[in-house]
Amino acid sequence: MNRMETDVIVIGGGATGAGTIRDLALRGVKTILIEKNDIASGATGRNHGLLHSGARYAVKDPESAQECIRENQILRKIAWHCIEDTGGLFVTLPEDDPAYHSLLLDGCKHAGIPAKEISIKKALQLEPNLNPHILSAITVPDGTIDPFRLTSANMLDAIERGAKVLTHTKVVSVIKKGTEIIGVLCRNIHGEEIEIYAKMVVNAAGVWGQEICNLAGIDLPMFPSKGSMLIIDYRINGVVINRCRPPADGDIIVPGDTVSLIGTTSKEIPYDKIDEYTIDDDEIDVLLSDGEKMIPNVRFTRALRAYCGVRPLVAVSGEKQGRNISRGIVLIDHKERDGIDGLVTISGGKLMTYRLMAEKTADLVCSKIGVKAKCKTDKIPLPGSEHKFTSRRTMKKFSGIPDSVVGSTFYRHGQRLRNILTTDKKNYRLICECEMVTEGEIEYAIKKLNVHDLVDLRRRTRIGMGPCQGELCAYRGSGLFHEYGGASPEGSVELLNDFLEERWKGIKPVLWGDGLRESEFTYWIYEGLFGMSNLKNNKKGLKQ
Ligand SMILES: Cc1cc2nc3c(=O)[nH]c(=O)nc-3n(C[C@H](O)[C@H](O)[C@H](O)COP(=O)(O)OP(=O)(O)OC[C@H]3O[C@@H](n4cnc5c(N)ncnc54)[C@H](O)[C@@H]3O)c2cc1C
Repeated sequence: MNRMETDVIVIGGGATGAGTIRDLALRGVKTILIEKNDIASGATGRNHGLLHSGARYAVKDPESAQECIRENQILRKIAWHCIEDTGGLFVTLPEDDPAYHSLLLDGCKHAGIPAKEISIKKALQLEPNLNPHILSAITVPDGTIDPFRLTSANMLDAIERGAKVLTHTKVVSVIKKGTEIIGVLCRNIHGEEIEIYAKMVVNAAGVWGQEICNLAGIDLPMFPSKGSMLIIDYRINGVVINRCRPPADGDIIVPGDTVSLIGTTSKEIPYDKIDEYTIDDDEIDVLLSDGEKMIPNVRFTRALRAYCGVRPLVAVSGEKQGRNISRGIVLIDHKERDGIDGLVTISGGKLMTYRLMAEKTADLVCSKIGVKAKCKTDKIPLPGSEHKFTSRRTMKKFSGIPDSVVGSTFYRHGQRLRNILTTDKKNYRLICECEMVTEGEIEYAIKKLNVHDLVDLRRRTRIGMGPCQGELCAYRGSGLFHEYGGASPEGSVELLNDFLEERWKGIKPVLWGDGLRESEFTYWIYEGLFGMSNLKNNKKGLKQ
């Protein structure tokens, strides 16, 4: 059995875990992060990607609202290449209680959120697709944040500062000495077992944090609340649209890259269903009908896919209902709560408060292991966000490469585009036309960003995430895995199959109209033209 030692083990490769190893690495603490799937494969990669201004929480949860606006301002500086400054609007529809408008303005004022009432005419200028019958509108500094880019950049920085990241490796038990946790036992994708010993273990496993606590003999009940979202095939809004009413289903439309998404629902689910990720027809109905109320053009769009995530909510004060449980940060020292030393749990919060969650966790861990260094993550930019170059200046530096390729590589990797873009022909060969991903970018991701399969590659580059959903790029991507990732020909077919299966899960709930026609076309390419199932079941034949 392999054996490793470090100062701190972090379980969970979502934004919280990634932020924690980065924070600790900046304080000179050695860490190993363990993630059972890929980075951002839990709630981190299954949300709206809304960089909240805090206005959504301003009326009912002022503490969360203040955290949001503070972190919103910090992230714009340290993670600008992961953020789009879209701005946000809160709009009152004819059926909404008009009194909420003033409550929201007051709440924002109290929380320090710059919210401003604007005329309906101005709102329609800002967002021409908006329902023209709205009664009032408020602007807030909402934005969007790419969870994959954010998590990857945090990991990259931590790794460059000495941290280790083991993805596709699951923590299967904890190693105890009396009442102290001194390490964990992990199993990787190849079935190999690794024992890792450390002074402290951080449970940043999101909603699976309950299972990690169970391994340690601790009872920490989570109240899983599933939220579903719908992606539509083009960007129908440039500004984040929120409905001006207490948070409810189908009240946000977020623009993201080439698409827009409508969110979300909130359904309590039993804990044994947290890995099922099923989207119910009634959720799709509510998202479409409520989305259409804010932006009537929703009716004329094609739904690309639906997906869901499970909020890692810990009820600390007895509430047991999804939208009622605070979305606030929960940091637990298990020595104090349960008499078990060596373990802390960090949960709750939001994607966009990941840095603050990491700071609080690292402060606690450092106080326990005797490290005095202070948090620096609010000042030191993430890799890619080092200098604020305008894309115009960037374009000039890479003259010879098409602007569209420079622009989209810059958009995804910020300043790190220097590590990708050369005048090599690879940077002219487009692999994913929807998202403008080139062969050069794919080579970089496979070699430098801890990518094991095509689904991981999608999270690093957005390959297959645009309007065609992998129809024309998936087979090219799997071919490149053979070229740059060392996959055998039959291994590449396996990767392609897994990728298509994964895309299919999200397409299935929205199969009607043009979406259904496009899926038939994809099926025809992969099954009719390539004979995919034949290739998959005939590995021996391929090897011969
Ligand atoms: C529907 C929905 C919409 C949301 N919208 C927003 C939004 O717009 N803006 C925002 O800021 N926040 C939003 N959130 C909240 C946000 O997504 C989460 O708070 C945040 O992503 C949690 O990150 P995390 O790293 O703590 O957990 P996760 O991302 O869930 O990470 C936990 C990780 O632990 C890993 N893990 C579990 N068990 C093990 C094990 N035994 N061994 C190794 N690894 C393990 C999992 O695979 C997972 O990757 C939304 C949440 C949902 C569900």
